[in-house]
Amino acid sequence: MAETEDLKKKQEGLGFCPPANRPCLTELLPDEIVRELNSRTIPALPDYRGGQIFSWLSRGVMSFSGMTDLPLPLRQSLEESFSAGSTGVESLFQDQDGTQKLKIRLFDGLFIESVLLTDRAGRRTACLSTQAGCAMGCLFCRTGGLGLKRNLSAGEITEQFLHLLNLTRPSPVLRGVNIVFMGMGEGLANYPAFMKAVSILSHPQGLGLSPARMTVSTCGLVPGILALGREKRGPRLAVSLNSALEEKRRFLMPGAAGWSLGELKEALLDYQSRKKERLTLEYVLLSGFNDRREDLQALINFIPPLRVQVNLIPYNPLPAQTAPPRRAFTSPGPESTQGFYRGLQQAGVKATLRYSRGRSTNSACGQLAGE
Ligand code: SF4
Repeated sequence: MAETEDLKKKQEGLGFCPPANRPCLTELLPDEIVRELNSRTIPALPDYRGGQIFSWLSRGVMSFSGMTDLPLPLRQSLEESFSAGSTGVESLFQDQDGTQKLKIRLFDGLFIESVLLTDRAGRRTACLSTQAGCAMGCLFCRTGGLGLKRNLSAGEITEQFLHLLNLTRPSPVLRGVNIVFMGMGEGLANYPAFMKAVSILSHPQGLGLSPARMTVSTCGLVPGILALGREKRGPRLAVSLNSALEEKRRFLMPGAAGWSLGELKEALLDYQSRKKERLTLEYVLLSGFNDRREDLQALINFIPPLRVQVNLIPYNPLPAQTAPPRRAFTSPGPESTQGFYRGLQQAGVKATLRYSRGRSTNSACGQLAGE
């Protein structure tokens, strides 16, 4: 991993871990902030103070002393009673391809990871974690090998974006930034906190990011998909499918095995009847496991009448010194990968072949393990 002196300097002051025994305001929307303050401060504060504090937090100012339009006595009393963030940046890693990965320390000593990807055109995508570890146990995924440590709070999810935003100082690039909830964890298994983070990140008094520029990936939790379809301002949906053959999928993704492919498809049809957007199906290609002719045909058969975009992702092998996922797979060669891709195209399926960025820092799909 490339961790240069320059990067070390940059990470100084990026974050901090304050004492955990104070209410953390990054959890809250403006009206909730003012209610929380008024339950503890005398005299009561006017409503607009909630918006002011929320706006500072949303700009990544995670210390009350930096909120310069608040009266000094208020800043001091906030410092004494509240926290402006509960997470700290432990390390920053930079891949040769420009991908930046943060290892973030939670107040209880657990670690999560968040990634900022920049494509060749300079567009940025923040990949955020929703849980520390994951209970779903997908066999190709290192996070799945950790098991679930705990759900993240809305503030812990939001703060990851703020830490990534601070990486892009002095001129944070917000226009056109995408957020994908595809880091560690299954977002739909932590639904309330994940949706609260969406509300915080999209609130007009803060960053005002459009939920249409956010995507949550699920291994196929049917109740979560049905709930997301009923949200007025929810993020887009990506489903990690990885096999359209029942037994193979159950084996590969045991956490999703409670729902058959038929039930999953019904939920996706319900979702799509309420939302106009095209769904993303993610398919990690595992050599000799799900890249054969019968796998391709099963995928082609599964899709209609869903409107989907299939993202094919050749499996990311891990360096020998890292902890392995629960089962060793290999990446298919270019010929097999191209053959699968062409097969989808010939069947009229909209498909993209994605080579993960961030491989050299273990920041790519399925590689996050908080180590
Ligand atoms: S792929 Fe996603 S849902 Fe599956 S174990 Fe990994 S983090 Fe969890």
